[in-house]
Amino acid sequence: MQAVSGSLCLQKLGIVPFLECGGLTPLSRGESGGCCSTQPSVRGRRNRAYPLTSVAASSRRFGMPLLLKAASSRRTPKASPHSCELELPIFSRQRLRWTGKLLVLSAIITFLLPGYEHFLTAPRTLSRFEESQPHMGTAARIVVYAPSAEAAAAATRSAFERIRELDSILSDYQAESELNRLSHHSSGPPVKIGPDLFRVLSTAQNLAVRSNGAFDVTAGPVIRLWRRARRQRALPEADRIAAALDLTGFRWLTLDAKQQTAQLAKPGMLLDVGGIAKGYAADEALKTLKRSGIERALVALGGEIVVSNPPPGKKGWTIEIASLNLPAAPKPRALLLHNAAVSTSGDAEQFVEIGGIRYSHIIDPRTGKALTGRRSVTVVAASGIDSDALATALSVMRLEEGLKLIEATRRAAAFIVIQTDQGIQTWKSKRWRE
Ligand code: ADP
Ligand code: MG
Repeated sequence: MQAVSGSLCLQKLGIVPFLECGGLTPLSRGESGGCCSTQPSVRGRRNRAYPLTSVAASSRRFGMPLLLKAASSRRTPKASPHSCELELPIFSRQRLRWTGKLLVLSAIITFLLPGYEHFLTAPRTLSRFEESQPHMGTAARIVVYAPSAEAAAAATRSAFERIRELDSILSDYQAESELNRLSHHSSGPPVKIGPDLFRVLSTAQNLAVRSNGAFDVTAGPVIRLWRRARRQRALPEADRIAAALDLTGFRWLTLDAKQQTAQLAKPGMLLDVGGIAKGYAADEALKTLKRSGIERALVALGGEIVVSNPPPGKKGWTIEIASLNLPAAPKPRALLLHNAAVSTSGDAEQFVEIGGIRYSHIIDPRTGKALTGRRSVTVVAASGIDSDALATALSVMRLEEGLKLIEATRRAAAFIVIQTDQGIQTWKSKRWRE
């Protein structure tokens, strides 16, 4: 992550549902953005135009449309025999009174609506608080806007606690994690597992199918071989790779949603959720913050970042993404996000160079080989669990296949940088428009 010059509004990228129109950024005056429509007049019975406003504001937060209808009086005041007032239906005194009231009301709405969410939800003074702790083998960073230091500290503490809890469930480094206990039961009967592990495994299995096995959490034996290769700076022997590949295959993992069980078919299988767990943990930390009343927050776990509502007075969180660590690579860029997640996978940090070839920590579960090409993949998605897993999957998949997968995933967009024989090239999925 580096400083950037440019800025990119994802509303323009067509990722509207979870961005500017996610119901959480107030529309600025004059903006319609498809979220809100104002009709200057409505036609009443007898086709008479009433100077009223019909405002339909579809806000997810309110869960129902706010609709102010023309409440015009149809009754025309009767002419009094003693009165010399001219009775014009539209300009009668009563009608004028109604019209005046409604005009005032519509003016109030028109002025308040653009900022109604701030108006209703944002306490007057929110301050920024930030804390970092090491978790899940990386730096976990939480930024919150809270009314007091005490509120921020309490919420952040629970969020870090949730990350720690998930690490104890999902880690393959902790011998007694729920994940490792499941691996130790390989070839045994189905094992009852908790909701967190079930959620992670079912999302992973879904992506394994959609990516034709490019993303595969049963690749633990292969991943361990390459981890050792990085430590010892020596390539794994071919027969070891073959043996590890024999124990790899998402089809050997069966999940039962009704019973909440998982079963590994072959003895010696090992699960590794390193490509998806951090994104899920970031999602869960953000949920924990929300439960503590923090509506505007950012959680970053290494390269996985999730955000809720924007900082006060801002349209989104500015998130800087870098691509390949090469001089000719595109400059880092900035994204403006809210209620979304972004992940970057690549070989920028974890790799080993052996015999002049750079081997990534991401492996192809179909060949048992570590990736050697230089590629950086940034994925924006609705949640961290999705952006994290998709970024890893797209690192492995053929470019066209990966882009197809992104196009087929609701609310997802990708930015890919690859070093090719023709130099460094970049690709953007259709929703990624600058
Ligand atoms: P990082 O962990 O650096 O954020 P990723 O999210 O891309 O990077 O995850 C890489 C990790 O995912 C590896 O360290 C390994 O644990 C796991 N992994 C590697 N290759 C695959 C793969 N093809 N499918 C699923 N998980 C993988
Ligand atoms: Mg990942």
